Amino acid sequence: MKILITGGAGFIGSHLCKKLHSQDHSIICVDNFLTGSRDNFADLTDKPNFEFIEHDINKPLDINCDQIYNLACPASPIQYQKNPIMTMRTNVLGSMNMLDLTKANDARILQASTSEVYGDPSEHPQKESYFGNVNCTGPRACYDEGKRAAESLFFDYNRKRDVDVRVVRIFNTYGPNMLKDDGRVISNFIVQALKGDGITVYGDGSQTRSFQYVDDLVDGMIAMMEGDQIGPVNLGNPNEISIGELASKIIELTDSTSQIVYRDLPKDDPIKRKPNIGLAQKTLNWQPKIALDEGLKKTIEYFKNL
Ligand code: NAD
Ligand code: UDP
Repeated sequence: MKILITGGAGFIGSHLCKKLHSQDHSIICVDNFLTGSRDNFADLTDKPNFEFIEHDINKPLDINCDQIYNLACPASPIQYQKNPIMTMRTNVLGSMNMLDLTKANDARILQASTSEVYGDPSEHPQKESYFGNVNCTGPRACYDEGKRAAESLFFDYNRKRDVDVRVVRIFNTYGPNMLKDDGRVISNFIVQALKGDGITVYGDGSQTRSFQYVDDLVDGMIAMMEGDQIGPVNLGNPNEISIGELASKIIELTDSTSQIVYRDLPKDDPIKRKPNIGLAQKTLNWQPKIALDEGLKKTIEYFKNL
């Protein structure tokens, strides 16, 4: 199969490229390096059946393929808030370009949507049927509302233009290939702990997230692409932890002398987040396998070697 992966030089995209390439597919990786890196796919560069195209998906692309995984979009709050208009444009215009390309090829496309469509949720854990609680004028809106608009486009292209779509809602994911200055919590804490710097907990650290290791996510995305249902389907690890506890855990696992330092909680930062993954368990026969401690150890090793 010929598979196009947008955002393939990014954290999740690079793992997806590697996994699908190892399954003997022909991979076309597209990225504009906004938050990605050539290093992330360095071990594939010279391999047969791997092609990299430097391209911004906001411009149309003419290429033959059977499947598209649409991951192009900065995912770290710090990164997408640096480029809010570009973030919205990529979610709307970029998604339309990829949907048009899917139609032209009579292919199938999977959208990497997000738990951020639930905003600061009043339902806990979050099920796919929950409509969400998003501030459409706040600093996170470019991403949250952008991803919500992208979902609308995917479902309208399916209903009106018969495009074969899949939508997954990804919850916080971590692992090797995150940029060390990416700004997300796990990469920040590990790098700070390894350097002996202060661990920057925003707010009082009581806010929660549920973290999944990237290998689990990649398996879920492929299962969704190969399956029959359109979605949306949550992909995440329901093991919820407060950010304060996460900081202590990373200090312990790195054997670090770092101390916790408290910083202001960013505006609209969700207070709690945990996926209900019943739908994925039932329909994809998928559930995460890698526990937080195990995944953190692998990620710590990666950052140590950088
Ligand atoms: P990332 O920032 O590491 O990767 C995104 C990639 O997209 C980068 O390589 C970037 O250069 C590229 N990109 C951005 N805009 C582009 C454009 N206009 N044209 C071409 N390439 C472009 O982020 P990630 O964590 O790997 O996330 C990948 C996808 O998964 C994103 O769509 C994100 O919204 C989604 N997601 C991630 C998480 C998570 O916890 N990591 C959670 C929910 C959803
Ligand atoms: N966070 C933190 N310190 C950091 C980075 C993030 O306390 O150095 C917090 C952030 O406020 C949020 C949680 O960790 O409550 C997860 O943040 P991240 O940016 O990784 O992802 P989000 O789920 O907010 O998109």
